[in-house]
Amino acid sequence: MYHKSSEQLTSVENVLSIDVEDWFHILDVSSAPSLQAWIELESRVVSNTLFVLDLLSKYKTKGTFFVLGWVAKHFPDLVREIERRGHEIGTHGYGHELVYTLTPEQFRRDVGCSLEHLSRCTSRQILGYRAPGFSITPASSWALDVLVELGLRYDSSIFPMKRNHGGFLEFSQEAGWITTPKGNRILEVPVTPINLIGNKKIYMFGGGYFRLAPLSMITAGIKQLNIQNKYAMVYLHPREFDANHPKLKMNLPRYFCSYVNLNQTTTKFIKILEQFNFNSIEKVWDLASLNTLKTQPIWNKDSSIQPDKERILTYIAT
Ligand SMILES: [Zn+2]
Repeated sequence: MYHKSSEQLTSVENVLSIDVEDWFHILDVSSAPSLQAWIELESRVVSNTLFVLDLLSKYKTKGTFFVLGWVAKHFPDLVREIERRGHEIGTHGYGHELVYTLTPEQFRRDVGCSLEHLSRCTSRQILGYRAPGFSITPASSWALDVLVELGLRYDSSIFPMKRNHGGFLEFSQEAGWITTPKGNRILEVPVTPINLIGNKKIYMFGGGYFRLAPLSMITAGIKQLNIQNKYAMVYLHPREFDANHPKLKMNLPRYFCSYVNLNQTTTKFIKILEQFNFNSIEKVWDLASLNTLKTQPIWNKDSSIQPDKERILTYIAT
C-alpha cells in the first residue's frame, strides 16, 4: 500500500472532483451524438472510472464524483462502487446540457431526474451539483435557486474567468456561502485560477488545462494557493485517463483541447496525489452534519457562516 510522502508540502486539503461521464459527452460539437443514441455506443465509463477508483485507493485519497444521471440509470453498480469506496457522490445533471441553454423548468427536470436515478443507488443524501461545462453564468444564476429548491446544499459550477462554456468573471475565487438571486443560501465552491500580474488569471488544475500545463507549473500553482491557505480545485473526467477511447470529429482547436496529452493524465495525476492532500468537497467543508438538517434552514445551524463572509449576488440580473 502506498504511504504519503513526508515531503508533502502543506496540510491544506485540496478538492478532487471527477465528472463521471463517457467519451461521447463532449459539449457543443456538432458530431456529438444525441441522448437517444448514447445507449447504442460503446461505453467506457465503467472501466475508466474503476481505473480512477483504483488509483485513488492506492494513494489513499477521497474525492467527489459528480455522476451524470444517465450514467447512474444505465450503470447503477458503478455508482454503488464509488460510494462503497468512501467517495462522495454529487450530481452532474442527467442529459449533460449547458445550463444557459435551458429554461429554469427544463433545468429543474434535468437535475431532478438525475437525483432520482442517483438516489436509487446511493444510501446518502446528494449534497452537490456540478454543471456541464461550468455553465452557471451571470445570466443563468437562477439555477442556484433551483438547486436549493431541489435540496442541494452546494454548487461547484462557477468558473471565475473566461472560458468557452460558462465563465463568471466577477465571481469570487474562493468558496463561501452565497445568497442567491431569490435570497436562498448555498455554498459555492468555484474552480481556482491563479492570479498573474496585470489582472490576468490562469487555471491549470482540470480537464484540458491540466493535460496541457507542464507538471512543474501545476505543482507550483497548487503550492502557491496552499501557501496562502487556499485550496486548489482539480477536476478530471474518466475518459481523460484513457488515451485510446474513440474520438469525435471536431475542428482543430476543439480537437486539441479535448484530446491533447491524454497519455500524460495518469502520470501527472499520480504526481500531484503524491505531493498534495486532496479530499471530497463534503469532507473539506465538513458538510456531513448538514445531512441531519431536514427541516431547518442550513444557515441557522452552521457556525462557520458569518455575515461578513457572505457574498450577495444582488447585482445579478434575474
Ligand atoms: Zn461534463
